[in-house]
Amino acid sequence: MMRTRQESAHHVVILGAGYAGMAAAIQLAARAKRRAGVQVTVVNAQERFTERMRLHMAATGQRLAELSIPELLEGTGARFVRGWVTAVDADAKTVRIDDDRVLRYDTLVYGLGSVADTSRVPGVEEHAYTLSGAQEAELLADRLARLDGGTVVVAGSGLTGIESAAEIAERYPRSNVVLLGRAEPGAAMNPRAKAYVHAALDRLGVQVRSGVEVVKVLPGAVELAGGETIAADAVLWTSGTRVSPLAAAAGLAVDERGLVITDAALRSVSHPEVYAIGDAAAIRQGYGIMHGTCQGGMPTGVHAALSIDRSLSGRRPKPFRFGYYHTPVSLGRGDAVVQFTRPDDTPRRVRLTGRLAVRYKETVTASPWPTYGRMKKMPASGAFWPRGGRFTKIRDGR
Ligand SMILES: Cc1cc2nc3c(=O)[nH]c(=O)nc-3n(C[C@H](O)[C@H](O)[C@H](O)COP(=O)(O)OP(=O)(O)OC[C@H]3O[C@@H](n4cnc5c(N)ncnc54)[C@H](O)[C@@H]3O)c2cc1C
Repeated sequence: MMRTRQESAHHVVILGAGYAGMAAAIQLAARAKRRAGVQVTVVNAQERFTERMRLHMAATGQRLAELSIPELLEGTGARFVRGWVTAVDADAKTVRIDDDRVLRYDTLVYGLGSVADTSRVPGVEEHAYTLSGAQEAELLADRLARLDGGTVVVAGSGLTGIESAAEIAERYPRSNVVLLGRAEPGAAMNPRAKAYVHAALDRLGVQVRSGVEVVKVLPGAVELAGGETIAADAVLWTSGTRVSPLAAAAGLAVDERGLVITDAALRSVSHPEVYAIGDAAAIRQGYGIMHGTCQGGMPTGVHAALSIDRSLSGRRPKPFRFGYYHTPVSLGRGDAVVQFTRPDDTPRRVRLTGRLAVRYKETVTASPWPTYGRMKKMPASGAFWPRGGRFTKIRDGR
């Protein structure tokens, strides 16, 4: 029996069109255009691209650009499927969507990202807001707009917590913003950058309480270890992230957090026809497992696409190497700090602050979409990032 062209094509299905998934989709589709018999399908919950790096802005009522994933994919040959992935069958090599559609794949790229971890502390799921997605940010925006005053507790003093607390305090100066966390804000920065963060939060009127642990979120308050409660009209939870349970349920090898464990080429160690990228993947470098950032996530997407392209032409995929170079943090719209880092993400002495840092941060945040546009025309233009030298080299036995 003759097979149709569609049936005999090599099907690559990319799950998740976030920063990493879009990089993989555009890079692969642009390369696959020159190659007959490769069909790329991108599955994502929304048609609109979520600029996650701007969700603290969306949460304070700032309008974000309408970035359409299907429009960007136009002309690349990639197909877009809007839907919520409910299951991956790694044996049958199929993906199930919430409307019961089933997509078959030969190669899968797993890039479903991460969301705020609302599961560890009682009451977070029911009573706290998150920045897990655009809808969640809008819910907080509604609450803050109606509140315009009162106490807003931001739980978690990492970068998302700092950026959110600063943004809320700047937009709603009548609010009392309290930033709670185990570590001091900017703990991973060099002492001068950290001092800058503290001074900026202080100037904006953010009350910082470090060395505290939130053990419960109640309607209208948070409870700290030791029993103290802090009244809150709104609680934003930014402490920790978790990933979709789909990879573990599919039987892919995952770590204790559910991230897909990859080999050096970003293939699942248990299912080599599955590539894992971005926040959803546990990717080992010489300095340890990469932590979730857009900075590192986009290169993982591009690398997965390059590896698939190489495999399809009978070549061996190359090992992925990535070294960090910066930590840009906004402190409201008028201030920011950029901590430059070594490839293992430890801070260098060099930093930017003030208006220059604001401009740098905005350039970085705005860059993914135009980068995808460029890659569409010139795929090679997306294939440059710092490889990290000796920091990322994996020695034998590790
Ligand atoms: C407020 C904030 C500020 C940040 N600032 C920075 C920064 O300055 N620099 C930096 O490098 N990083 C920053 N990050 C982190 C960065 O946003 C993430 O590391 C990045 O988004 C990870 O990209 P990703 O493609 O892996 O996942 P995501 O961007 O989360 O994309 C995953 C996609 O998969 C979709 N999806 C998930 N599950 C399903 C499903 N079951 N079915 C269908 N679709 C699904 C989601 O809707 C989403 O579109 C920030 C994060 C936040 C929250």
